[in-house]
Parts: sequence; C-alpha cells; structure tokens
Amino acid sequence: MAPEKLHWAHLYKEVVTSGLCTGCTACIVACPYDVLKYDDEGGRYKPFHVLEDGGREDCTHGARGCTLCTRACPRFRDWEPEIDTFLFGRSRDEHEVEGVASQIVLARATDPEVHAAGQDGGLVSALLIWALEHDVIDVALTSALEGDGTSWKAVPAVVRTRDEVLATAGSRYTYSANPLAYADAISGGAERIALVGMGCQASAPAVMAARKAGKVARRFVLSIGLMCSKTFDDAIFPELFEARYGLARENILKMNIKGVFQVWMRDGSFHEIPLKEAREFTREGCKMCPDFAAEHADISTGGIGAFNDCTLTVVRTEKGAEVFQGMVDDKALEVRPIEDDPGAVALMRKLSRASRKRWPETAVPMPRRMPSAS
Ligand SMILES: Cc1cc2nc3c(=O)[nH]c(=O)nc-3n(C[C@H](O)[C@H](O)[C@H](O)COP(=O)(O)OP(=O)(O)OC[C@H]3O[C@@H](n4cnc5c(N)ncnc54)[C@H](O)[C@@H]3O)c2cc1C
Ligand code: SF4
Ligand code: SF4
Repeated sequence: MAPEKLHWAHLYKEVVTSGLCTGCTACIVACPYDVLKYDDEGGRYKPFHVLEDGGREDCTHGARGCTLCTRACPRFRDWEPEIDTFLFGRSRDEHEVEGVASQIVLARATDPEVHAAGQDGGLVSALLIWALEHDVIDVALTSALEGDGTSWKAVPAVVRTRDEVLATAGSRYTYSANPLAYADAISGGAERIALVGMGCQASAPAVMAARKAGKVARRFVLSIGLMCSKTFDDAIFPELFEARYGLARENILKMNIKGVFQVWMRDGSFHEIPLKEAREFTREGCKMCPDFAAEHADISTGGIGAFNDCTLTVVRTEKGAEVFQGMVDDKALEVRPIEDDPGAVALMRKLSRASRKRWPETAVPMPRRMPSAS
C-alpha cells in the first residue's frame, strides 16, 4: 500500500487545533503555493489556510499530493525521535533530558561592542558576525523591534552585516516568528541562511532536512537556538508593566529574566517584577511546549547560571562544533569550562524536565514518556 500523503488537513487536525501548535511558521515558509497565512492578532500566533483553496480545514494542493507543510512542522507526529535520529544517528539516552550535546561551555564575545550589545555573553551575535564574515552564511533571520523600538513589538528581520546583527541583538520576551523573514531573505538572493529562534523555531531546519522538505530545507544551513520556557503576549506591556508598575513601554530600555523580570528604564531606574505576576500573560502556543533547551539547534544558548556576562552554550551538531571551533581558533570567543558553574547545567536540566511534562498525554508518547521527564 502506498504511504499516506500527510498534508494540511492532517496538520490542522493534529497540531493546529489540538493545542500543540507553537506558531513557529515553518509550515507557512515551506508551503510552495502561498495558501498558508499567519494570524498574529490578539495573541493567537497560528497559521491558517486561505478559504479559496479548500477552506480552513483542507487544502486542494494537499489533496493532490503536496505534503510540504507536514514535512516542515516540528510538532507533527514523531518529530522528536525522528529529528534526534536524523541529527545524531541515534535516539537520545534517558539522561539527555536537554537533548543531545557534544559540548557544554560558558562563552562570551571577545569584541567589547558585541559583548555589550548581547543579552548575556553576546555569543549569538558574535557567531552570526563570524559566520557572515567567513562566508558560512549569506544572511541570518533574527528578531528586530518594530520602528524606533519604543513599541517593543518584536518582528522577524533579515540581517546581512555586522551593524545589522548588532541592531537586533538582545532578547525580547514576546513572540517573534523569525522563520517568516525567509521570503525577504530569498528575494534578496540569499541561499545560505542561519535561523535564530527559540526551540520551537530552531527545530524547524532539522525537521525540514529530516523529512526532505526541498529547497527550503537546503537553504537553512545553521540553526541557533535560544533556551526558553515561555513567551508572553504583547498585552503584558500595557496590562502589567504599565498598569501595575507605571513602566510605559516607550521608556523601557532593556529587559531580562533572571528568576524575576528585570526592567531597565531610559531614566536609569531599574525594576524587578515577580514572574508569577507575568504568568497570566503566557502566550497560548507555549503552554504545551516540551522544549526548553532548543534541543535540535546546531548550537543552543541560554542566560542561566552564575556568570551574567557569559552565554551558556550547548554545542550539539558537527556543523555547530565546526563553527564554534572556528570562532575559538580566531579568538572571537572567550570560553570557560562548564565545571566553573555546575549549577547552570543542573538548572538547565531542571527546566528541561519541567517543559517536557507539559507535552500532553493525548499526543505521541515522546517527549512526555521519557523516564527522566517523569
Ligand atoms: C523569548 C525568550 C525567552 C528566553 N528564555 C530563557 C530562559 O528561560 N532561560 C535562559 O537561560 N535563556 C533564555 N533565553 C535566551 C537568552 O535570553 C539569550 O537569548 C541567550 O542566552 C543568548 O544570549 P546572547 O547574549 O548570546 O545573545 P545575543 O547576542 O543578544 O543575540 C540574541 C539573538 O536572539 C534574537 N532574539 C531576541 N529576541 C527574540 C525573540 N523574541 N524571538 C526570536 N529571536 C529573538 C535576537 O534578534 C538576536 O539575534 C530566552 C530568549 C528569548 C528570546
Ligand atoms: S507548530 Fe509551526 S509548523 Fe507546526 S502547524 Fe504550528 S506554525 Fe505550522
Ligand atoms: S516555550 Fe519557547 S520554545 Fe516553546 S513554544 Fe513557547 S516560545 Fe517556543
């Protein structure tokens, strides 16, 4: 019997309407017929199918054999063991709750300007600059702030130069569907693209490659992951920061999460907001997400640990190791052994376990049914 052709109708039923959809936009980017669009109004962040080609629930191209959206989705069916096996040649051991890693270190950009622009150690920005300047990539997809930045609306962006990388450094804690910048990258002639994104997005290049999603898969040559427990709805600015703390978004300079929401204002003041107050603003698409540590990125990065000036860096794939070693050889990075901060790894594992428990029992068994996740 010929294998079942899995398309939008399956994705809609099993992922989009089941609550598993993160809104990562990989399906939209992979669709060759442009019939998938993105609804990011009112905190929804979901793909939808245009009415004229089969309605909300079905797709005329899918009915005729197109399967690209299900090939791109990092939450469709047995995505986790499938990508693990594709990337690492094996499924993960039960202790590898944060995903398979070849090296875990603390790293910071050597260049002071890059380090200052970065959220933690500036590793991500240093890496993008290095990869652009060493002809590893043509562009990177990152997240910018709309307009002059005072709206704090995070939007996908294409960066091609050091200055553009630095202009999009730092973290925003609302959702930015970075893969959506793919179309702009391609129209500008890019063929080798790095994607920066949280785990939901960082798994997309690997699932596309594992399931042979064509040209799009070949163009994503590097995936840089950001560790992540949740993102927040844009409503957090008016309804929490401004209404309860008097912190108007246009006056916010920088934010970080280190056990609490840290907020630096343009007037030089600093504020801490308990994370439990922010809980009600958790974005819907994050509530069932099992991936804290960006488990399928080439390199994953986080800000946890004792050293605020370093990025916790998990090198996973051969490609990631090659780029990381190139940067070390060029002295673009200062690296400390993870033994300097064992608490960082312990916390990464604890947070990874907590995220894995969110995967619902009604879905495929992994990631929930992993011994160390219980
Ligand atoms: C929403 C979110 C939640 C996070 N949660 C945690 C956490 O719980 N624990 C933890 O250890 N680390 C977390 N991180 C990762 C951390 O904040 C840093 O991004 C990471 O340590 C890399 O730091 P850096 O200095 O090397 O990166 P930088 O050099 O500052 O580069 C950061 C890159 O991330 C991109 N970016 C920023 N905001 C977003 C966004 N919203 N969506 C997509 N891309 C974005 C930027 O455009 C830039 O390319 C989170 C990051 C984000 C964006
Ligand atoms: S998880 Fe991503 S790829 Fe899957 S349906 Fe949602 S937006 Fe599309
Ligand atoms: S928790 Fe983070 S990685 Fe998971 S869906 Fe939300 S933004 Fe994506």
